[in-house]
Amino acid sequence: MPELPEVEVSRLGIDPHVSGHTIQQFIIRNARLRWPVDLDLPERLSQAVITHTARRGKYLILYCVCADKTQGALLIHLGMSGSLRIVEPSAAVQKHDHLDWVFDTHVLRYHDPRRFGSLHWHDLADGDVLMHPRLVGLGIEPFDDAFNGAYFYKHIRTRTQAIKVALLSGDIVVGVGNIYASEVLFRCKIHPETPAQSLTRKQCEQMAAQIKIVLHAAIEKGGSTLKDFVNSDGTSGYFQMHYNVYDRAGEPCTRCGHDIQRIVQAQRATYFCATCQKRTQPKSKKNTA
Ligand SMILES: [Zn+2]
Repeated sequence: MPELPEVEVSRLGIDPHVSGHTIQQFIIRNARLRWPVDLDLPERLSQAVITHTARRGKYLILYCVCADKTQGALLIHLGMSGSLRIVEPSAAVQKHDHLDWVFDTHVLRYHDPRRFGSLHWHDLADGDVLMHPRLVGLGIEPFDDAFNGAYFYKHIRTRTQAIKVALLSGDIVVGVGNIYASEVLFRCKIHPETPAQSLTRKQCEQMAAQIKIVLHAAIEKGGSTLKDFVNSDGTSGYFQMHYNVYDRAGEPCTRCGHDIQRIVQAQRATYFCATCQKRTQPKSKKNTA
């Protein structure tokens, strides 16, 4: 599943090929994505100029000025298996190629075998795109300067759920998906089942810093795949990182050599080292574990 780093790398990969370009034609081959694609879009987007791109959480945003001067934004979510790439106009359409933005010299093509992705139009006359129902409830961006240990501590203190589950909820900070949540907790030596509200201020400082470091490293790593967005086979945008714990159950911990464990939390797999990430007990209680 594409996580925040993949979405940001997708944005960086397509941006030079879409920003400042005029859409000659928008083609819908299959409107049945997670939510139906608006069938008025081909008419609305004909001769629209994409002015710039942005990202909020795992949503890619293409800002547009339409031929009738209406200003709006396209919100693209890649779902479980969506990808974007730039192809020649003559490139053969493959199975699962659902949407095309046709420009003068090239095409932006959306491919999604499982069709959990989505495309929404937001008219900027209705307000800032960040107020769109799909974006308004999202937590702070991890690279926002306002996201720091103090912010994280303040928002985590009221949460009784396990820290791993709180991270995945995306309403405190976005972008810490299943892979990165396991990695961040390993780096901070925090057991994934630790109640969120029991984390110390110091642990929150460390987690906020590691979240930025881990996600930044993933985007950097993805930067080496940017050329794959042009005329590739459609697997562009996903990249394999080296993980300390994620998907390594039974393999030795990179820090202590003990086996990595796998547990399930809120229907998602969590990987951790039980030696490095010791369960901490509430100060007021005896050790009953
Ligand atoms: Zn270990």
